[in-house]
Amino acid sequence: MEKISVAVRFRPSTAQNHLPDDRHWRIDDNRISLHRSLGTPISSVSFAFDHVFDQSSTNGTLYNQLTKPIIDAAVHGFNGTAFAYGQTSSGKTFTMNGSQEDPGIIHLAVKDIFHSTQMITDREFLIRVSYMEIYNEEINDLLSLGSQKLPIHESLERGIFVAGLREEIVNTAEQVFELIKLGEANRHFGETNMNARSSRSHTIFRMVIESSIKEPMSSGDVSNADAIRVSVLNLVDLAGSERIAKTGAGGVRLKEGKHINKSLMILGNVINKLSESGRQRAHIPYRDSKLTRILQPALGGNAKTSIICTVAPEEVHVEETRGTLQFASRAKRVTNCAQVNEILTDAALLKRQKLEIEELRTKLQGQHSEVLEQVILKQRNDMHKSELECEKLAMELEEKKISRSTRAALKGTGKEDQRTYYVCQSR
Ligand code: ADP
Ligand code: MG
Repeated sequence: MEKISVAVRFRPSTAQNHLPDDRHWRIDDNRISLHRSLGTPISSVSFAFDHVFDQSSTNGTLYNQLTKPIIDAAVHGFNGTAFAYGQTSSGKTFTMNGSQEDPGIIHLAVKDIFHSTQMITDREFLIRVSYMEIYNEEINDLLSLGSQKLPIHESLERGIFVAGLREEIVNTAEQVFELIKLGEANRHFGETNMNARSSRSHTIFRMVIESSIKEPMSSGDVSNADAIRVSVLNLVDLAGSERIAKTGAGGVRLKEGKHINKSLMILGNVINKLSESGRQRAHIPYRDSKLTRILQPALGGNAKTSIICTVAPEEVHVEETRGTLQFASRAKRVTNCAQVNEILTDAALLKRQKLEIEELRTKLQGQHSEVLEQVILKQRNDMHKSELECEKLAMELEEKKISRSTRAALKGTGKEDQRTYYVCQSR
């Protein structure tokens, strides 16, 4: 068992003037407390975290201290998740995406992953990425414009997954950056008020890292050689949290549901429950929102998780900052139990593709290695794409069957219109 690591980051101030009695946040090592300009603390409450990064910190510093251990572990088979949480314009996107001069967590993580996998010469790696957005409780694929409102499914083999989401197998960091660029372009597509949207949507950038030993260690050691490590890494830029603080989780009524960010409110509830004593863990409301359902294994489960809470230092944001620090304090009490995921079944893509790729390698022997890798990458992506397509069709068929049988069961009862409800419930 290990605790979720939680850091707070202050973005540089944009305030022009300070009044004499301005309240301001003071950082003492890993503690934060609220003071008046004259120096007196406003209350005795101070918050303690794993790290506190002040206004002068860079994304690089934050990455090295908070996120890098999660990335290194992901390469070795541990699931990992890093969130940025905070009110709008507190620096979440800056932290995750960064700038030209100060690349963000995602950029640094991608670079590190490819660097690490190149250093590990005795294992073969297969890395794939996806990029999705949750907007108004709908999941949209940022890598494929046609795929909107995707459903969440669960199977024994795959666990919880977003059906129909494009996954692209990648060989280099540059290929990933191209895909991210495509995702960002799709995110803005057709939106007139991009800022309003981005503050109400979550993005999940995901990398799945599979690896297996290149050669069997000895002919007798087949089981070890066959085991494939599979880890999922989620890098999440959350919606602005200010609405929760203003509405209060308890006072949210159904008709307002359209206007508040439901997933973020449920995330708060999930963190609250998880931070309570162990016995209440049985009733964690993961299924109440798409975000918490997708990230279920990362919250109170099998993953190494870090939360970067971004806050604005200005006096005008004191209440929002306090809300964020309270969320961060509760998150600090949550424990996870991460373990290396080794699987022997066909659930690993690396295993399913093994024969075809070996055949292709033999066929193309003697080719320039760069050409060979390109052909293999294309073959891998083609195979994976048709697999995902088959899976999607199978699920659509299954849904039609359920819908038909529900309709048949309701026929003559006057409740035919309930079928949609039942189909949704089955998801
Ligand atoms: P959010 O995603 O939380 O809504 P942004 O990341 O878009 O907020 O940040 C709002 C503005 O503040 C942006 O112009 C961004 O470049 C700037 N900013 C945020 N954090 C930092 C930082 N640590 N250093 C420099 N500029 C920052
Ligand atoms: Mg943002």
